[in-house]
Amino acid sequence: MSLKSPTDDLFGPVSTLKPVATVPVLVPMPAPRPYSYAVPEGVDVEPGSIVQVPLGPRQVIGVVWDGEEDGAVDPKKLRPLTKVFDCPPLKSVHRRFLDWVAAYTLTPPGLVARMALRAPAGFDPEPMVEGLRFSGTRPEKITPARSRVLELANDGLAWTRSGLAHAAGVSTSVVDGMIAQGVFETVFIPPPPLVPPPDPDHAPARLEGAQREAADELLEEVRARRFSVALMDGITGSGKTEVYFEAIAETLRQGRQVLILLPEIALTAAFLERFQDRFGAKPAEWHSDLAPKTRERVWRQAASGDVHVVAGARSALFLPFQELGLIIVDEEHDPAYKQEDRVFYNARDMAVVRGHIGNFPVVLVSATPSVESHVNGLSGRYRAIHLPVRFGEAALPDLHLVDMRRHPPERGGFLSPILLRGIQKTVAKGEQALLFLNRRGYAPLTLCRVCGHRFQCPQCSSWLVEHRFKGQIQCHQCGYAEKTPEACPECGTFDHLVACGPGVERIAEEVERHFPDARTIVLSSDLMGGVRRLRLELEAIAKGEADIVIGTQLVAKGHNFPLMSLVGIVDADIGLANGDPRAAERTFQLLSQVTGRAGRSGLKSHGLLQTYQPQHPVMQAIVSGDAHAFYEREITERERALLPPFGRLASIIISADSRADAEAHARALRLAAPSVKGIAILGPAEAPLALIRGRHRFRLLVHGAKASDMQAYLRALLANAPKERGSVHVQLDIDPQSFL
Ligand code: ADP
Ligand code: ZN
Repeated sequence: MSLKSPTDDLFGPVSTLKPVATVPVLVPMPAPRPYSYAVPEGVDVEPGSIVQVPLGPRQVIGVVWDGEEDGAVDPKKLRPLTKVFDCPPLKSVHRRFLDWVAAYTLTPPGLVARMALRAPAGFDPEPMVEGLRFSGTRPEKITPARSRVLELANDGLAWTRSGLAHAAGVSTSVVDGMIAQGVFETVFIPPPPLVPPPDPDHAPARLEGAQREAADELLEEVRARRFSVALMDGITGSGKTEVYFEAIAETLRQGRQVLILLPEIALTAAFLERFQDRFGAKPAEWHSDLAPKTRERVWRQAASGDVHVVAGARSALFLPFQELGLIIVDEEHDPAYKQEDRVFYNARDMAVVRGHIGNFPVVLVSATPSVESHVNGLSGRYRAIHLPVRFGEAALPDLHLVDMRRHPPERGGFLSPILLRGIQKTVAKGEQALLFLNRRGYAPLTLCRVCGHRFQCPQCSSWLVEHRFKGQIQCHQCGYAEKTPEACPECGTFDHLVACGPGVERIAEEVERHFPDARTIVLSSDLMGGVRRLRLELEAIAKGEADIVIGTQLVAKGHNFPLMSLVGIVDADIGLANGDPRAAERTFQLLSQVTGRAGRSGLKSHGLLQTYQPQHPVMQAIVSGDAHAFYEREITERERALLPPFGRLASIIISADSRADAEAHARALRLAAPSVKGIAILGPAEAPLALIRGRHRFRLLVHGAKASDMQAYLRALLANAPKERGSVHVQLDIDPQSFL
């Protein structure tokens, strides 16, 4: 199915020689290839043109694609395009990128293109805005304010009403008064850019030593104007951001655009401000919480080149940049870069592909790089850049393991006496303590003490999690929620439900019991009030308005809390117990990141990790600070088991409304598997999350040698397999991150 990638001018403006021209159009549907449409006479389109076409009874938006028509259909029978949008065509690099992602992830290209077309109103030119121009009439009375306005308006150029008032340093009522006297005539002008252009030389940091060397290495890549990948690692606070800002500045000087990918953009208000301090203007943001209007403007202005820098979540990769010259992937190891919905892709890996196709540098940044990137750094495929120390006064916290077998918490509690003492000392000094537990709600499991009934989601194979603040029990898989019952639904006994295990709310309860006078804040993604509330809480913490913060992994990311001098990890073992081949790596990354929250401002700081496995290599690596030994060990193990990056993995997830259908189809897929040297297929096995939203799930795992052609294997398997019938759905996941 792979499309040819012809040169741009194959189609050009439609030829006038043929009586009816036809073009392939990729529509946002799971179709395997573009559909053919006729081009009405006098209409000009080229590959990349965004058009509207009829599809069945509907009109949909599509993109004129590359490739030759097969000529099988009589052009006269084809339906014509109904509209060509007046917007820059998707560039050839962008189209090739979309094709590449589709072929790699084995996703119908239309579904990938759909991600690039998610701003419908952005395809029409932005409406003009009303502006003012000096009419030649002078106001009746001249005041100092009015004369300032006149002085500016005298240049004969058009201004917006608020822009003029702002520039003259007067209130808009001054301008309004002058409008009333006929001083201005109304004109229509193009809308102002979404964000002012960033100034590469606004306020650069002074870089010395390792930071200077690192920045010079990045500058070399940027100046070369060709594809390269750099992996920059260095502990939190070592100045990685400051260093990559230099690469951004240089790209801006070249007049090219920059994309900064961040894993948790909705929460990075602090990052945007920091960028503004350095460049004098904010980057444009791109994430799912943007208002539709803003989204459309970002899309449009990325295409027109009016937006120079976008800071965004993974989907920003699909924006139609006019001339992208650099991608930064911050926190490159973060699992949030993997999308597991419709198009399963890893934005970190696709960023590298985008750089390759666009022929520009990509910089991956992390304090704890993924094993995959680390190996590429070691082998020289990526340029490894290392920042060894924290900047300035900042020191890393002193880390200690708390052996929970020797220092157990009191009955019904989860905090060891050692951690409690640490909190007490910290709070007494007027400093902040952070308690980290990656579990939302009050307790992960509720059961009846009388009959043993466990509360399970009616549509998923997961326990219902009690949320006491909301008075609900909830499913974290599908969002199902019900009021916390008073009696057991099984045996009817009242008041005998017990909560098993801790969530952040329960830790908060314990903290409040021990420290009734401390100001305690719980932070988790299900806070009532959403992202806005979260931002406020984070600001409050940064200002010192809380003594003890209890949080899920949200608090791990990027925030700077100057007063934080103790980090307590409530359950350091939590991520180690599942069957994920990356469990140790993930735990190492998360715990390093969380403990890195402390001591950023020079306070003497501590980290306490509660564990039942103090000898575990992950625990040892964290407290000894010997990340090197940890990576070495991980790499050796992956190499021996031929796991990524030394081998390749793909998952096939089969789901259906009935367990029998899912299992039968999974078995049929297994039978359809071709026999290829170097590739093995495992399963089917019932998925650990056997039921989600009422759908039963089975998995197959394909494991191949590094050189194996996984995509060809999977295509052959699917071609040989029975069709998906009834409720059966097959989802492929190349390079899976989740095995649930
Ligand atoms: P990282 O991205 O590695 O966590 P940052 O770039 O955020 O590190 O730097 C940590 C802190 O130190 C920030 O507040 C940053 O502004 C400051 N900093 C780092 N390097 C410099 C420098 N050369 N000059 C001034 N401030 C710096
Ligand atoms: Zn559920």
